[in-house]
Amino acid sequence: MKIVLLGFGGWISNPLYGQTSLLVLNDNSGEYILLDAGEGVLRNMFECGFSEIRKLKAVVITHSHGDHVLGIPTLVQFAKTVKSKIVIVGLRETIDAVVQILKAVSVSNYECCIEPVAVSPGDVLEVGGFRVRFAEVEHTIPGLAVRVEDSGSGRCLVYTGDTSYSEQIVRLSRDCSVLLHEASFLESESTLAKSLGHSTLSDCLRTAVEARNRFVIPLHFGLAEVKIDIDSLPQDITILYPSKCLSIDI
Ligand SMILES: [Zn+2]
Repeated sequence: MKIVLLGFGGWISNPLYGQTSLLVLNDNSGEYILLDAGEGVLRNMFECGFSEIRKLKAVVITHSHGDHVLGIPTLVQFAKTVKSKIVIVGLRETIDAVVQILKAVSVSNYECCIEPVAVSPGDVLEVGGFRVRFAEVEHTIPGLAVRVEDSGSGRCLVYTGDTSYSEQIVRLSRDCSVLLHEASFLESESTLAKSLGHSTLSDCLRTAVEARNRFVIPLHFGLAEVKIDIDSLPQDITILYPSKCLSIDI
């Protein structure tokens, strides 16, 4: 399996970062699933070389904040042109919000081209050759962190969506080689981060140490770019700095 990072910014950040989302590719089938779909996600997919909407087997939406969901109308319109269907996975309230957005921006006949799949923390879903698990996050609205496992090899990654430090995410992430954890705020803003349901790089690394992850990719940067400026980095963990279209074999 392979990860392709489509964006790593938050809602308000350098627009060139792209809003945080990633594709998880199945090496065997060439199919993929998308984790989060903020503004410009289809453009970012094309930029990174993934333009075949029929190979998109599911879109997992972690929560309904705009920077995670506002690319859906364009994906649905595009799917309509090739008579494809977008499987949209999320909490019931997230799916309800997606439908409201499709209605609000007048996507006609959207029912033809979406297949909503409501999930809850603890659920396990098989899609696109992957086994996908979910845990609750600590954010300002209900949301999910997502673990994607290759059904054959068991290799896996975890993507947190938006959250402050959470033991439930540590449990979800245990022994996955790659953790993609949000790090929206600077270390000096850790109290503010927690109060807003977000994380710093230290929160991200604490999770990785406790979950025994090997590689960590901090994501969802705010206006101030996250710097690797903490005093002591944990041994045995490699921090990968994000970039658009960054591709990693797992
Ligand atoms: Zn959010």
